[in-house]
Amino acid sequence: MSRFLTDRYKVLKPYTPGEQPQDKKYVKLNTNESPYPPSKTAMRLAAEELERLKLYPDPDCTRLTRELAVTYGVSEDELIVTNGSDEVLNFAFMAFCDERTPAVFPDITYGFYRVFADLNGVPYREIPLLSDFSVDREGMKAERGVLFIANPNAPTGIALSASEIEDIVACNRERVVVVDEAYVDFGAESAVPLTKKYDNLLVTMTFSKSRSMAGARLGFGIGCRDLISDLVRIKYSTNPYNVNRMTAAAGVGALLDADYFCENCRQIIETREWTARELAALGFDLTPTRANFLFAKSDKIGGEELYLALRERGVLVRHFSGERIKEYNRITVGSMAEMQIFIDKTKEILEVNR
Ligand code: PMP
Repeated sequence: MSRFLTDRYKVLKPYTPGEQPQDKKYVKLNTNESPYPPSKTAMRLAAEELERLKLYPDPDCTRLTRELAVTYGVSEDELIVTNGSDEVLNFAFMAFCDERTPAVFPDITYGFYRVFADLNGVPYREIPLLSDFSVDREGMKAERGVLFIANPNAPTGIALSASEIEDIVACNRERVVVVDEAYVDFGAESAVPLTKKYDNLLVTMTFSKSRSMAGARLGFGIGCRDLISDLVRIKYSTNPYNVNRMTAAAGVGALLDADYFCENCRQIIETREWTARELAALGFDLTPTRANFLFAKSDKIGGEELYLALRERGVLVRHFSGERIKEYNRITVGSMAEMQIFIDKTKEILEVNR
């Protein structure tokens, strides 16, 4: 830290991303990426943009916005396209929260919410998840701040139904409710249709998981026209060219290959259920996940110990040290072959530990 950094940022505790090891090849089940490549059309359209890189991209992402509007049944002015969904989430903190309008989110959820709050000088309240790790809906409803709800939640994978989300949104008409649907495509219900009815609902989504494009950085938000125009105002005040040419083109391709997307989601759900059964048979306790990851705790080995033993055997999962969840690991659902390796290595470790 230099002596020039302002007090405001001196206290900032940046987000710690999952490991992205560059040295050795791991079975990488730690950052919820897709095991499948981007769609062929996505790759072809991105490659076609290479020769146009000397030109700035379209700041409105016109073609991508049009395709997204068709895919999600909304109009183009009800959409904003961003550099990963992290960016639209940050825009939401900038646009809707301030010293007098705190952010509210569960105590166990996506770790970036806390960082975005601090970055923007926004106070926040954390509402503890209930003992079964589900979101405390009544606790959230009782708050008057801007609500951030990951649905399915991370790292638990537990989802609220659309009607449960509606109940929260309807109870808080004077504050924005942000529903982060990064993992919605793996079996949860989307709140997008509710954006027609509630002007205080913003839904955020990403191409990073179900559309196999984590490296491209592409996300988007859906809400009523006025909410979106607030976010566009922030975007044009920070970086109008937030989505590069190749990424925007790849996004269009991914949407056009809808069958490929559906098949990948179906496959991941099937592999998740297989892995859950295998883990349960080994005595693991699992949350009822609707995401592309599992959240599991062994009755035979501690969370960190298992994480380290797997790592030593070339399998990376994600361990969090928070008090309530330190005995768990979050395991991304990879390909069937990867999950077979994960299960084999886990069995080996439990065997050694007996
Ligand atoms: N929301 C949740 C709940 C996440 O887990 C992630 C991924 N780490 C994101 C949003 C952001 O993903 P991205 O910026 O890649 O769209």
